[in-house]
Amino acid sequence: MTTLPDSQTDGALFGNRFVTQEVPSRVFPEGGMSAVDAMRLVGEDLALEGDPARNLATFVTTWMEPEAQRIIAENLHRNFIDHAEYPRTAEIEQRCIRMLADLFHAPGETTGARTQGSSEAIMLGALSLKWNWRKRQEKAGRPTTAPNLVFGGDVHVVWEKFCRYFDVEPRIVPLQPGKYTIGPDDVAPHLDENTIGVAAVLGTTFTGHKDDITGINDLLVRLKGERGIDVPLHVDAASGGFVWPFLYPHSEWDFRLEQVRSINVSGHKFGLVYPGIGWLIFRETADLADDLVFRENYLGKTDATFTLNFSTGSAMVLAQYYNLVRYGRAGYTYIMRNMRANAELLADKLAALDLFELIGRDEEQLPLTAFKLAGDVPYDEFDIAWQLSAERAWMVPAYTLPPNAQDVTIMRALVKETLSREHVDTLARDIGEACETLARKGGAHEYERRKVLIGPGH
Ligand SMILES: *Cc1c(COP(=O)(O)O)cnc(C)c1O
Repeated sequence: MTTLPDSQTDGALFGNRFVTQEVPSRVFPEGGMSAVDAMRLVGEDLALEGDPARNLATFVTTWMEPEAQRIIAENLHRNFIDHAEYPRTAEIEQRCIRMLADLFHAPGETTGARTQGSSEAIMLGALSLKWNWRKRQEKAGRPTTAPNLVFGGDVHVVWEKFCRYFDVEPRIVPLQPGKYTIGPDDVAPHLDENTIGVAAVLGTTFTGHKDDITGINDLLVRLKGERGIDVPLHVDAASGGFVWPFLYPHSEWDFRLEQVRSINVSGHKFGLVYPGIGWLIFRETADLADDLVFRENYLGKTDATFTLNFSTGSAMVLAQYYNLVRYGRAGYTYIMRNMRANAELLADKLAALDLFELIGRDEEQLPLTAFKLAGDVPYDEFDIAWQLSAERAWMVPAYTLPPNAQDVTIMRALVKETLSREHVDTLARDIGEACETLARKGGAHEYERRKVLIGPGH
């Protein structure tokens, strides 16, 4: 017996309804749909997105080993905050904190927190700076009404966010054309007894360099000795915290320096874990203001928490521990050196095009290539970013630097674990060809330029 064509049943049998129908997007759906339809609907949306493997804008991990993916997939149902129910997950978190404290040369017993990323870690770390400053001021009988925080224009937007959300005056040291990090001479004029701390960056999002952290530390040590003002230094090592210990082990930026009291690092950047994991590490237990720790009796067990979020997945904590024990120093060093070698190769190939100036390639830097146009050509860096993405689907951002270097436009390609030698060769060739095309046809219109929305702040 043959069945007559029927759009409903044929649709269910051979296709899915969104081949010809508009997708739900405005009102809360009345009826549901089959699991297969829902899965295809989401999949079809994602097919229009960029391929993470060609996203050279992001610092965030886009590949993990199959064994790590298996751990993640098998533990998505575990709520990290249920310490009483999942004590081994809590223990694994503490192991990660102790290992990172060791990596960063903490002198002894310490403490820290697992966070959603460096942003949450920075909010918590800066709150602790504020609380400790207030205690110092109260003890000395001084006012506690006008706290300030000193940092450079090269920081991530989260530092300004902290200042606005938590009512602290930001004292931002502007950059200058040709000088994209800060040092002690920039910081010194802004310090006083209301300074809750100085934030310095290890591996800026803009050019991948570090602030002069040793210089700033020396300044703060002198300030403490000469004027009795004890200003702590927080290092934002979101990207650099998993790079410097392996590529530049003798370069001092961490708890080897006296005034460095806390450090944040993103597990999901060069910690090589998928998004959703960051760490805050204190130099000593006393550097965490005790008032910020909540001790609750929840589900039958007293539990201390120091977080902005509550419920969250366990999977990325487990994945971080997997990476730490899987790679160790030897593995991370091997991976970081490969990335640096490929970043250097890309820099050599771009230099050979005779169009670009490489930015700070002789200094300690994250594994990336930062460059800008050097000569007079009828197109700019935004045009190159647009041409590369339109023609070859590479996502390489172009952006202007923060004030007072806002007239400088640069491009930056992250060289990650999966960017192979073959990819580097192809990328360099594609950049060269994009420039040839642009030289013939000229730069894009303003309108097209605005479509390149890939910013540096990832
Ligand atoms: C990425 C980054 C941040 C924000 O970190 P998330 O982990 O994305 O929250 C903060 N500071 C610096 C220097 C960064 O590179």
